[in-house]
Amino acid sequence: MVRSIFTMLTLETPITAIPRYGKLFAKRLLKLKITTVRDLLLYFPFRYDDLSNVVPIAEAKVDAPVTIRGTITAIANRRSFRRRMFVTEALLRDESGTMRVVWFNQAFLTRVLMPHTEVWLSGKVVQDGYGLHLASPVYEKVSGEAGPGSAGEALHTGRIVPIYSVTPPITQKQLRVLMKLALPSTPLFTDDLPAVITKQHHLISLSRAIQMIHFPENSKALDRAIRRMAFAEFFRLHCHILSMRAAVLKEQAPAIRFFEKETKAFVQSLPFQLTQDQRKAAWEIIGDIQKTTPARRLLNGDVGSGKTVVAAIVALNIVLSGKRVLFMVPTAILAEQHAQTLATLFEGTGVTVALHTAAHKLLKKQLLIAPIIIGTHALLHTKNILQNTGLVIVDEQHRFGVAQRATLIQESSGLVPHLLTMTATPIPRTLAQTIFGDFDISFLRMMPKGRKHVITRLVPADKRQAAYEFIRKEIAQGRQVFVVCPLIDPSDTLGVRAATDVYEHLRKEIFSEYAVGILHGRVKADVREKTMRAFAENTINILVATSVVEVGIDIANATIMMIEGAERFGLAQLHQLRGRVGRGSDQAYCFLFTDTDGAMAGERLKAVVRLQDGFALAETDLQLRGPGEVFGVAQSGYIDFRFARWNDLALIKETREAAIRFCTTLGVVVTTPSVVQRA
Ligand code: ADP
Ligand code: MG
Repeated sequence: MVRSIFTMLTLETPITAIPRYGKLFAKRLLKLKITTVRDLLLYFPFRYDDLSNVVPIAEAKVDAPVTIRGTITAIANRRSFRRRMFVTEALLRDESGTMRVVWFNQAFLTRVLMPHTEVWLSGKVVQDGYGLHLASPVYEKVSGEAGPGSAGEALHTGRIVPIYSVTPPITQKQLRVLMKLALPSTPLFTDDLPAVITKQHHLISLSRAIQMIHFPENSKALDRAIRRMAFAEFFRLHCHILSMRAAVLKEQAPAIRFFEKETKAFVQSLPFQLTQDQRKAAWEIIGDIQKTTPARRLLNGDVGSGKTVVAAIVALNIVLSGKRVLFMVPTAILAEQHAQTLATLFEGTGVTVALHTAAHKLLKKQLLIAPIIIGTHALLHTKNILQNTGLVIVDEQHRFGVAQRATLIQESSGLVPHLLTMTATPIPRTLAQTIFGDFDISFLRMMPKGRKHVITRLVPADKRQAAYEFIRKEIAQGRQVFVVCPLIDPSDTLGVRAATDVYEHLRKEIFSEYAVGILHGRVKADVREKTMRAFAENTINILVATSVVEVGIDIANATIMMIEGAERFGLAQLHQLRGRVGRGSDQAYCFLFTDTDGAMAGERLKAVVRLQDGFALAETDLQLRGPGEVFGVAQSGYIDFRFARWNDLALIKETREAAIRFCTTLGVVVTTPSVVQRA
């Protein structure tokens, strides 16, 4: 009778319409941004407690977490004066025997779990002077809160229990009850996978997957559900990327002539010899831009592998062809530095480089004619900027998401520019093929000759002073220090070292004889620039910063990178930060300060100490970390997956193949780009 009401819930039905509980909880759920049945059903548990070990009392063993189904035969409160709390003691009986149950400071339980109540209790079996008892178990009445249809089925005990991220006043139990009531509506979701794919890959339906994710029948069903969701996430990404590839293939780009003589002269003018990889990459990209198909190429190389000069060689040919180059970087600081670097590289070639940032604005007219413009991603918002643009270069690519790539086509009238993107950190091959599935890829694996390893050390709390003394000696010899902190301001809860704190501490107490500067996202642009400049000119010895210095900044005299709260950074970020030092000829050091010693954090930090090769580190990261955290992938919310894990390489491969087959049957032209690798 009541059932019919539930089947009438649509996904758009407001929570308030859920019988009995909806009105009561709707307001509390607002905080979690849940207003409709759809929102509710898509609010997934962030973990599970496995309380599915249901045993008869006679078989409950000491120290084991168990769930027992039984009847309360007696229950009473007493005060424990010694421990200053209420103790509730009960007796639980099932067919096999009787066991004591003990709770602390939950006196209300005598009103909830009256004698004769049939309950599920989940907790740990503990031995005391009187024998065994069940300690502070989670309780659930056998035919209680979940309402109609759930008699005998436990929601909070005796099963794999979903744990949601909830904040008071809503409780886990309340959310579960409400979820259970909404669960019959899952068939209303339109399945997000084509039926043929579901069938071919033996996947369960979206509806069933959602049900199993909230209330898994068993761990196998849960695994299947999660895998199915992850499958869909990867599959859709692949399809999206393949369709972008197809869209690009339909467009026309300006064919750029290869200026062989000028290119050779330029390469010869460089103060160093190109590495084999650099030569090869430059050659590949020059091959791309001679075609009328818009190039989409990823230059995948480690910090310091010399991507900039490769980009410069390509840019030179574009400019000589009378086309323009937009060079986009993530921050204004980096734009300034790149402008400087490129201006130096192009000295004597007649190619000019223009800088366009919030602080250094080009005139509108200049913006539309300057042959090379360096700026931040804001450049793309300038009207008509792509006019006569032959090449867009995006440095530190992961901040330039899938969505932005499409704008290059949308914003171009007529010819679409070629696109060269460069990673900030190397991306493992399999992942690069996925995220940049619509790109051709060139790898820079070799480092330029003579590059020194940055000596990397973990510094636990008791070695901090010694590290300061070492640093002091280095500064005395004229070297400079970066200090990077995870946060700008002190945060009361986390105990994380904040830039402002560290700055004051170093300036006043540790290195009072030296000039200390600070740089973070809230420092005004002009002050920031001044500080940067002072650091570049060595009038500041120590620069405290948040990770704004993460990318690109090149200061040859800085030999020490000191990272506070190192465990709070991703491996990729740490590696990138480390790449900020060791640019000159002096030995460089990276000190990873850490206050916690979590095993996982330790494992990861040790990898940074051990591995200097970014590609190797990236592979390790892939094995050590979970979703969305992998090297070079999701550092800035690049792709937000709920279930898919970037280290599930087998699934990535399977879904990619499925997507290629599927898109081909739809008539989408899919030509898999080449992944060029050094032999
Ligand atoms: P990244 O790949 O991190 O962007 P850069 O392009 O900034 O690296 O290059 C790092 C440094 O190495 C720069 O100072 C650059 O001049 C230098 N460099 C680049 N290629 C070579 C090379 N083949 N030999 C020696 N030094 C090089
Ligand atoms: Mg770079």
